[in-house]
Amino acid sequence: MNTNNTFYAINATTEKPLEGAFQNASIGKINEVVKKATEAFEIYRKKDKNSIADFLDQIAEEIMNLGDSLLERCHLETALPMARLQGERVRTVNQLKLFATVVREGSWVDARIDTAIPDRIPIPKADIRHMLIPLGPIAVFGASNFPLAFSTAGGDTASALAAGCPVVVKGHKAHPGTAELVATAILKAVKKCRMPDGTFSLIHGNSRKVGEDLVKHPEIKAVGFTGSYGGGKALFNYANARLEPIPVFAEMGSTNPVFILPAALKESGDKIAEGMVGSITIGVGQFCTKPGLLFIQKSESTDKFYSQLGNGISKVPGATMLTPDMLKAYNSGIESTLQIGEVELFASGLNGGTTTATSKVFKTSIENFINNKSLSEENFGPTSILVEANSKEEIFEIARNLEGHLTATVHGTDKDLEEYKELFDILELKVGRVLINGFPTGVEVCNSMVHGGPYPATTAPQSTSVGTNAMKRFVRPVCFQNYPQFLLPDALKNNNPFVIWRLIDGGISKSGV
Ligand code: NAP
Repeated sequence: MNTNNTFYAINATTEKPLEGAFQNASIGKINEVVKKATEAFEIYRKKDKNSIADFLDQIAEEIMNLGDSLLERCHLETALPMARLQGERVRTVNQLKLFATVVREGSWVDARIDTAIPDRIPIPKADIRHMLIPLGPIAVFGASNFPLAFSTAGGDTASALAAGCPVVVKGHKAHPGTAELVATAILKAVKKCRMPDGTFSLIHGNSRKVGEDLVKHPEIKAVGFTGSYGGGKALFNYANARLEPIPVFAEMGSTNPVFILPAALKESGDKIAEGMVGSITIGVGQFCTKPGLLFIQKSESTDKFYSQLGNGISKVPGATMLTPDMLKAYNSGIESTLQIGEVELFASGLNGGTTTATSKVFKTSIENFINNKSLSEENFGPTSILVEANSKEEIFEIARNLEGHLTATVHGTDKDLEEYKELFDILELKVGRVLINGFPTGVEVCNSMVHGGPYPATTAPQSTSVGTNAMKRFVRPVCFQNYPQFLLPDALKNNNPFVIWRLIDGGISKSGV
């Protein structure tokens, strides 16, 4: 609902406006918050690592202090069940604490020291040192499908703050009340930890202009985004058309192919079918890692698997999506798939009425899949497409023709994995995470996680938006040549005051120089 520059959150279940009006940020407001972020950067980037770690921990505490009122508002705005939101709050808070641990430990700055060799012949070698430093103010776009863990205090915000960058969040219009509550918690932490004013700001907008103006602001130095391909690509284009182009870390659509190999299908087809029904329909299919493409090699076990999968899907109740617009987009995607020749509606969930999404699984042949590019595009919701291959070579061929995705999954016995070894060589070039005998939904937040992948899954294949490596998106390497000790950052000083791991003359060590 909209009146000029004011808009209201919509109750995702009743589709009625909720209490509280939100303002579309004007260009004046955007200038004001980015100016404050730019000023804050000068102070914030110099804060010692323990202060930044304490600040992240404090944000986590303040989010918990919001209590159930946060979850209640979030439930109204998103229709996500309370149990899911409780889990997402834990994830959000633990994510902040994990970044705090990494910052406190300190080695993430990738300190490298190559000591001088003044008497090297024919020319002397200078003292050369390297570390990562923060980029500056970061624009973060809250994601609709993770109102806590990928929004106001989510992974992008946490990783940017951890890296030493102030953040301006453009909240998602689908949950502005939730965004506002979380922002209050972050601002409390800013005050308690004596961080500079402008370290964090939230702006609202249900107009594309707000996001465009933010990305185009000359003092914004990078962008973190999770959402649609169209949205991510638009922001990437704005950023590249700037006088000073900046990196956009957009995590966009993905259909997350799953390969089910013959011996695994025979041995544990029932378990795979059950797990797949769960993974396709969990959270009403509103996960960027939802398995949207299932590739199966025809064998004597396929019919049994199809019937188990179809049976499972037929029992899934219709459910409310995050927004009415998302439901519209989902239903229109289902209609378009049905228009494509030789695509059979293979299984349908329980119809919960016109305001809910009904799960749908389609089936088609490999030839038809290869000839219709639209079949590999994401339809955000509880749907997937079964594609039947006739041989191992066809499975390899499909894999070779894949575009970039966030994940690829392979179900196989030891024998299958040995026989289809080549598949893994292909898949590691196509995705950010390859899973064996698992389900792609459920992304662990840890040091080794990669939630990214080649274009069009993201606009920055060298990065991850989940896990502690996400911080590396918001820093750049700087080399300090022939610096006297007193001018060097502490992380690079000879005596290693932080006792961090450093690469000294080619060897990893915590000792001094
Ligand atoms: P979205 O449309 O990409 O929007 C995400 C954010 O980017 C919003 O704040 C939006 O602002 C902004 N934005 C989008 N296009 C823009 C543009 N051209 N210029 C400036 N700002 C722009 O994603 P969504 O609203 O979350 O969901 C829409 C669809 O995206 C879903 O139906 C689904 O297909 C897909 N989606 C994918 C994922 C994933 O992880 N793969 C996650 C969520 C959604 P406005 O709100 O003002 O438009």
